[in-house]
Amino acid sequence: MSHHPDNTSTVPVADTKSGLRHRVRAWKQEGATIGLVPTMGALHHGHLSLVKRIREACDKVVVSIFVNPAQFAAGEDLDAYPRQVADDLEALATAAADLAYIPAGGEIYPDGFATLVKVRDMGDILCGVHRPGHFDGVTTVVAKLLLQCAPDTAIFGEKDYQQLQIIRRMATDLDIPVTILGGKIIRDEDGLAASSRNVYLSKDERKTAVNLPRILQDAVARAPASKDLRRLERDAAAALKKAGFNSVDYVEIRDADNLALIKKITRPARILAAARIGKTRLIDNMPVDPAPPGG
Ligand code: AMP
Repeated sequence: MSHHPDNTSTVPVADTKSGLRHRVRAWKQEGATIGLVPTMGALHHGHLSLVKRIREACDKVVVSIFVNPAQFAAGEDLDAYPRQVADDLEALATAAADLAYIPAGGEIYPDGFATLVKVRDMGDILCGVHRPGHFDGVTTVVAKLLLQCAPDTAIFGEKDYQQLQIIRRMATDLDIPVTILGGKIIRDEDGLAASSRNVYLSKDERKTAVNLPRILQDAVARAPASKDLRRLERDAAAALKKAGFNSVDYVEIRDADNLALIKKITRPARILAAARIGKTRLIDNMPVDPAPPGG
């Protein structure tokens, strides 16, 4: 089970929940702590940063790869979603992950599966408005992955900030004995957040895409002094359209913890946005902090 930090190393794979549990149980018997990184594969440097971060907190790192049909609404990109397991396994070997968990659909949704895990309210705003059922699909699969793996710690990227806050809520509400960590957003050199969906972008669309972080950054700079955050949001949405986004699902400034809409930046907040270029939907978000006293 030891990993070899050279480029001929491989990562062991479990493709059943019993295989996963068998490994995890053996590690726990040795006294090792377990970290889980849930992903949908098509791994990039954002995912790998989560592997690196959770390794600081745990002895053994499990990365799950499962393209979860339940979190794609009808008409979304489930079929087109990039799948590249061989490349992913290579990346995980290089990142010295200890186990890849790649369950077949039946391991997650066996015949007769009928349960839904739903976080109310927080799942019905922002992306929840535009992707009906999406977060119910996410919380259902993440609850299952946490129960199947029983990790001490699991990590989710701030790239999907609403998802991260919803999962924190779920773990607290359901008394799931796991520590949830958030990983910083990893960006390409020009500032675009790394995403498995960036491969959908044409060269021109990729150039347009960089305006998403730029426009959010601009709003972040203005927000602490703004007396009208709704107007700031509308201006940012208009700027995105002007930059070439064909539609803007939302730009909203909300409380960083409970995602409530806020009128003034008096405590840590977050600006969150989703917008479309062609058929590709991009999301991004950034922290908005109160101006320092007297500043
Ligand atoms: P996905 O495979 O898109 O479901 O993402 C799996 C995990 O990686 C989620 O917790 C994401 O939030 C996280 N992630 C995706 N992109 C990034 C990024 N650019 N920076 C940090 N975390 C990310």
